[in-house]
Amino acid sequence: MADRDAVVGLLDRTLRIREIKDTSCNGLQVQGAAEVRRVGLAVDACLEAYEKAAAAGCQMVIAHHGLIWTGLTSVSGRNYQHLRFLIEHEMNLYAAHLPLDLHEEYGNNIALARILELSDIQPFGDYHGLLIGYRGVLPQPAAPQEIADRLAAQIGGQPIVLQNGRELVRRVGIVSGGAGDMIEQATAAGLDCYITGEPMHFCYQLSRELGGNVIFLGHYHSEQLGVQALGRLLTEKLGLESVFLEIGAFTAGGGNRD
Ligand SMILES: [Zn+2]
Repeated sequence: MADRDAVVGLLDRTLRIREIKDTSCNGLQVQGAAEVRRVGLAVDACLEAYEKAAAAGCQMVIAHHGLIWTGLTSVSGRNYQHLRFLIEHEMNLYAAHLPLDLHEEYGNNIALARILELSDIQPFGDYHGLLIGYRGVLPQPAAPQEIADRLAAQIGGQPIVLQNGRELVRRVGIVSGGAGDMIEQATAAGLDCYITGEPMHFCYQLSRELGGNVIFLGHYHSEQLGVQALGRLLTEKLGLESVFLEIGAFTAGGGNRD
C-alpha cells in the first residue's frame, strides 16, 4: 500500500514527465483513491481497461494512451462516460505517452531493443525535435521475417513485413506506435531495417521507393512493454501489486496516430 502522491511522484520523476513536451497531458489525469495497493497497466485508457482494473481490485490505471490530450474541450459523450466510471470507482488514471516511449530504462522502444539484444544502442527517431526511439546493431545478421517472429514470440500480434531492402540485416531502428513516416529517417541513417507499430497506407510505396525493410508490429503490440516495466518499478520501489490489463486491439495495426 502506498500513498497516491508517492506513486505519482515516483512516476513523474522517473519519467521526467514535466520536462517532455507532448500532445498527451501526461501525469495524473484523474484523481481517485488516496491509497494505492494494486495498479492496472494498459496500453489504452478505455472503458474495457477500467472495468478490468475495477474487477481486479486496482486503485489506479496506468495507461500509455491516456484520456486527456491537448484539445480536450468538453466533458460530454465518451469523455463523460470515462470520467464518470473513474470517479464512481475512485480509480486514479495516470498517463505516460512520449515520456514512456523514449525512456532509456522503462520505455517501449528500449524494451523491444532488449528483446533483439541490440548493441551500440543510441537514440533515434526525431519527433518534433525529440528522439523517441532507439537504433542499434543485432548480434548476428537476420532476415526481417526472423526479427518479426522473434518479437512476436514475446509481444504477440501478427507483424507485417515489407521486405524491400537487403535480405539479411544488422542495423535496426525502432519507434513504437504510429511512426511509419520515420521510414525516411531510418533509410537516411543507413539502417537496414526499421521497426514500428502501425502499418499506415502510405508506408507501402514509401518502403518500396526508398528500398527499406520495414516491420510493423501493430500499434498496440509495440506499446505493451513500457507500462509493464512501470509495474515492475512500482513493485520494486513501493511494494505495489500490478496486473497487465489485456484489452482489444487490431492484431497488426490500425487505430489512431499516437
Ligand atoms: Zn501509441
